[in-house]
Amino acid sequence: MITRRPFIGGNWKMNTDRAAASGLIRGVVDGLVGLQGVDVAVFPPFPYLLTVGAILRERGSAVRLGAQDAYFEGDGAFTGEVSLAMLRDCGVSVVLTGHSERRHVLGESETIVHSKTKAVLAAGLECILCVGERLDEREEGRTDMVNEEQVRLGLREVPPEQVDRLTIAYEPVWAIGTGRTASPADAQDAHLKIRKVLADLYGREVAARIRIMYGGSVKGTNARELFVQQDVDGGLIGGASLKASEFVTIVRAAAQVGMHEARF
Ligand code: PEP
Repeated sequence: MITRRPFIGGNWKMNTDRAAASGLIRGVVDGLVGLQGVDVAVFPPFPYLLTVGAILRERGSAVRLGAQDAYFEGDGAFTGEVSLAMLRDCGVSVVLTGHSERRHVLGESETIVHSKTKAVLAAGLECILCVGERLDEREEGRTDMVNEEQVRLGLREVPPEQVDRLTIAYEPVWAIGTGRTASPADAQDAHLKIRKVLADLYGREVAARIRIMYGGSVKGTNARELFVQQDVDGGLIGGASLKASEFVTIVRAAAQVGMHEARF
């Protein structure tokens, strides 16, 4: 039987300062003491990775250190960019690619998202590839088409032996930071369709193992109804990850729901 353990990520975006980042991670670690059955990662801003990583190590925490972005080249004249080797050196084990703010605010193309995704997985790190439709695309009935295209383009030339380090985050753009959330049924429907695309690319068994998290205004009050959906394997949390108690409530909801058994 194939089972998927829930995964919760806290994307701090361009928020906190050094003191706030330290306080936040201490609150998260304290709130999660003794909790099992769920994987948790936090994604602080680059300048605070070492500070947050040191606190995680000092506390012996299982919370993983993640990066919000990375560049795909190894080194060289790429002013302002951060390489995967640098991130690994800072203790990072998981990297986001294709976040909607990178795509739609910073103008990252599919080609760049693809290069980054390929590089993260090839470097032996875990990758969370974010996909999701804009409001106009949803209104035109193109949600599944957009998700399929972003998954296929993001994973081009990624070999099957690397996708055990892959998580997909379905994050409808209109739901990110807006307080609007996809209904549990809509999220489940989108996740199932994404899993079918993964099955087409890598076969049913491999696809059944890949976790698909939901992101878009997840809070303590709506987490459970989303996470109980058969193909919703946790969440990528933005705003609500900036308050330790709220983030801990979300992680606890995922732990309570527990593993999902693959059924397709
Ligand atoms: C995100 O940043 O990935 C996100 C889902 O943000 P929020 O939870 O604030 O909508």
